[in-house]
Amino acid sequence: MGKNLKQLTNRIYYLPHNSETDRPILSAICGVHQTLIVDAGNSDKHAKLFLKELNKYQITNYHSVVLTHWHWDHSFGTNEMNILTIAHENTKIHLEKIMEYDWSDEALDSRVEKGLENPFCSEMIKKEFGVDRNITITLPNITFKEKFEIDLGGIRCIVKHVGGDHSDDSSLIFVEEEKVIFLGDCLYPSIYTQQPQYTIDNVRRLLENIEMFDAEIYVLSHESPLSKENFIGYIQLLKLICDLTEKHQRNHLSLVNELATRLNRKLSQLEEEIVYCFINGLSVD
Ligand SMILES: [Zn+2]
Repeated sequence: MGKNLKQLTNRIYYLPHNSETDRPILSAICGVHQTLIVDAGNSDKHAKLFLKELNKYQITNYHSVVLTHWHWDHSFGTNEMNILTIAHENTKIHLEKIMEYDWSDEALDSRVEKGLENPFCSEMIKKEFGVDRNITITLPNITFKEKFEIDLGGIRCIVKHVGGDHSDDSSLIFVEEEKVIFLGDCLYPSIYTQQPQYTIDNVRRLLENIEMFDAEIYVLSHESPLSKENFIGYIQLLKLICDLTEKHQRNHLSLVNELATRLNRKLSQLEEEIVYCFINGLSVD
């Protein structure tokens, strides 16, 4: 999985995610004049694979690569891409902080122990890079604060900072002509807190931001692209859990019971996990 380029719409191509080493989706938005790349990949190898695939389709003339957020799996391929890099100003600040890090097993293990690195990310970095761990972090050339637009020729991309629990620098990319929105990881819970968490206010604000865009296809980085119908189902579930968390607070049992009653079935594992993240989010208020 995740080895061959796929066509999403007339003018958008993507390399599917690959959970083996947590590789996110990488995408190319092809205007008449230029191509915009969304995310740089989790390694030089990942970036190289994507560029090779784009080359097969004669997709060239890159405008730039936009990073959806700073996390390793989206940014470690930047050096290999070797093109103009655009990101939110916080993405640059986060990358500056980790630029001098040592990525040896010992250094990773020690950061995990100190709570500075996520255990899953550490494991995946080791797996992606193997023993020959050549990691060069490159900073974005251009940063933005709120939003900006790129005209690729007949196709416009709006890049907007939305933040959220997953990472404060999360930004989305909306392609109006294709009715596609790239959400990166913004809808996922936090990963650098002790326990994964969602906070009610952050989730509500994020969903409001996303709902301003009229898309038909929703691209989340670590799963297959979602139709509007599936996406709406997903955000309705998040909204419902927001409301029920507000109502029941830390009373896990009554929260789960009311959710199961409203859905008229037993909760799925994903739903159980989402509830757990919301309760974790409460305890830090
Ligand atoms: Zn992430």
